[in-house]
Amino acid sequence: MDAASAPKSAEDESGRETWLKPILLAVALILVASYALTVTEVGGQLWQEANGLLHSDSAMLVIGIGGAAVAVAGLAYLFLRNVPARPSRRAAEARLSAENIAGRKAVLETLVREIEANAKATRQLAIHVIDIDRFRIVNEVRGEGEADDFLRLLSERLLLLVNQPERLARIGDDEFLIIQPEVGGARHAEIFARRIQETIRDVCAQVPRHARPGASIGVAVAPDHGNDAAKLMHSASLALRAAKGAGGDTFRVYTRDMELAVETRLQMETAISDGLHQSWFDLHFQPQYDLRTRRLLGFEALVRMAHPDLGEVLPTVFVPVADESGLIQPLGEWIIREAFSTAAEWPSHLTLAINISLAQFRHGDIAATIIHALAKAGLAGSRLRIEVSEAVLLAQSDSINEQLRRLRSRGVTIILDDFGLHNSRLKLLSRAALDAVKLDRSLIERVGREPEAEDLVRSLIGTAQSFDLEILAEGIESAEQALFLMSNDCQKVQGFLFGRPSQKRDLAAIISKDMRNALGAEPPKAPRSASAAA
Ligand code: C2E
Ligand code: MG
Ligand code: MG
Repeated sequence: MDAASAPKSAEDESGRETWLKPILLAVALILVASYALTVTEVGGQLWQEANGLLHSDSAMLVIGIGGAAVAVAGLAYLFLRNVPARPSRRAAEARLSAENIAGRKAVLETLVREIEANAKATRQLAIHVIDIDRFRIVNEVRGEGEADDFLRLLSERLLLLVNQPERLARIGDDEFLIIQPEVGGARHAEIFARRIQETIRDVCAQVPRHARPGASIGVAVAPDHGNDAAKLMHSASLALRAAKGAGGDTFRVYTRDMELAVETRLQMETAISDGLHQSWFDLHFQPQYDLRTRRLLGFEALVRMAHPDLGEVLPTVFVPVADESGLIQPLGEWIIREAFSTAAEWPSHLTLAINISLAQFRHGDIAATIIHALAKAGLAGSRLRIEVSEAVLLAQSDSINEQLRRLRSRGVTIILDDFGLHNSRLKLLSRAALDAVKLDRSLIERVGREPEAEDLVRSLIGTAQSFDLEILAEGIESAEQALFLMSNDCQKVQGFLFGRPSQKRDLAAIISKDMRNALGAEPPKAPRSASAAA
């Protein structure tokens, strides 16, 4: 369907027809009535002039007007009969089909047919694969009944948009496919994707804000992105993955790079699973200090992979792949075991911070794994600090919240990592099972250069204080940044200025240096230099 010529919606059309119908009916009735009147008024005279009927001017007038009136009334009747019948049938169809909208198999058959037809006519065709973001939240927060209603309403609205029931299908729990025939290229498909997005946003707006889903859309155009149904579906799912990877609630049209990204991803998956068996993973520990006391507080464990061909691979590259592939489960368990056994060797006042991703909380019971590992390593819960991303708190999952509560009840500190990176929501801080926030590196690196960033840091610190949360900062690289933080009530810090992530074997030296400082063997240097804290 041509995006530009597609009907806005059936409501629009049926709206036009509901006001048209009475007007046409009235015109038809007036015409028929006036003809009948004319006939009866002049009827006597007409028959009196029976003889010269065909030569009488008034008779000719009557017959002329009458004929025209009957013709117009007839046409009006035909119009009335045909025009309104179409939309009401379509609306009924929409209601009906939303219940048993086409499935994957049926739509693929249509797709195969349409690709062939388009190829013969050297026309292009697009498919749009739609995935509802955060649908699980609707299910969990609003319950299954409301989630079903949401999907039904969405199906109805999408049906009205595509106009042809066979061109829409539900191909997964919260996944839809739309076929858009006769497109004039990717640009044209994008316009339609935007309309799908608007329609979905409209439906989503009816769900309360805290459980509101969005939609990611992957678009592929035949024949450029695939000249058969399987290839086209593959391209659209790569585009969908790219849309999801961009944070969701958006659409992407397939590009060749997406293919390469998948290859790289698959290689990374293989590297992670090989690395687990061949001990390529290693934990580094970055020290954290108190700026006022100048004492070492503890370390954050940061995982690395030493790949035989790729060299050192950073977690920003492989953790997201591990999260998506499920490999974060075994990797996360290894990190917990390794970090806990390392921390068990430190003096008991030092803390250990570990990062736990959303995927780790989602799949299974990471709290139970952690509590079990604490006992096994002989580590007190109060020495453990868990850094979580905003996504963990935003997930609004009962299971996740319960795991966080269970960890806190053992004395574990829960820290919101990367605070200030996104527009951290206040509600999140007030409701969440949270003890501390860690100001993000991207903000700290602007301190000393951008007054607005400094204002933002001050206001974030104020916000955290108003919720009675502990405040930390990471990514401190200059003395100026350290002094700014200290004078703004943020005294717990971590950054290259104080120490880079270090290997296990170097930790003893860092710890003994701190001990010597504490005993006064190495008195702290002049207070002007914040690096003295290290
Ligand atoms: P994060 O938890 O926010 O970790 C801080 C990152 O900033 C680390 O990068 C650290 O090396 C880097 N960093 C610290 N101070 C400075 C500084 O002064 N300057 C600069 N330029 N960088 C600094 P890394 O190790 O690459 O880790 C990146 C992210 O990967 C981490 O961000 C965390 O989200 C994730 N990650 C690391 N280790 C693990 C892990 O064991 N499990 C999980 N689930 N995620 C991890
Ligand atoms: Mg962290
Ligand atoms: Mg961080």
